[in-house]
Amino acid sequence: MNEDKCKRCGKCYHYPFANKIKRCKYLVDLDNGLTECSIYDERLKKVIDITPEGHPVLCLMREKTKFWITGCPYNKAVWLRNKNGKHEVKL
Ligand code: SF4
Repeated sequence: MNEDKCKRCGKCYHYPFANKIKRCKYLVDLDNGLTECSIYDERLKKVIDITPEGHPVLCLMREKTKFWITGCPYNKAVWLRNKNGKHEVKL
């Protein structure tokens, strides 16, 4: 994925967890309003959480998460899923 278009909003660092949306513990808020990952170079496939059922939550490339996130330039039309037209992460 070409990351040049990323707005560094941090929205994709949130994930469904036990019927809620949880924030990744490695997401850092910067003073300028942007975000960054504190383990960026080693993040992919890292276990970032364990579900209540004991399943690992892995860090994935944005294009593999397949979530429609408002304002994200990497959204793909095929990720539009529910009756309202979007499988959207609300923050
Ligand atoms: S949601 Fe999109 S624009 Fe925001 S940080 Fe993730 S990839 Fe970048």
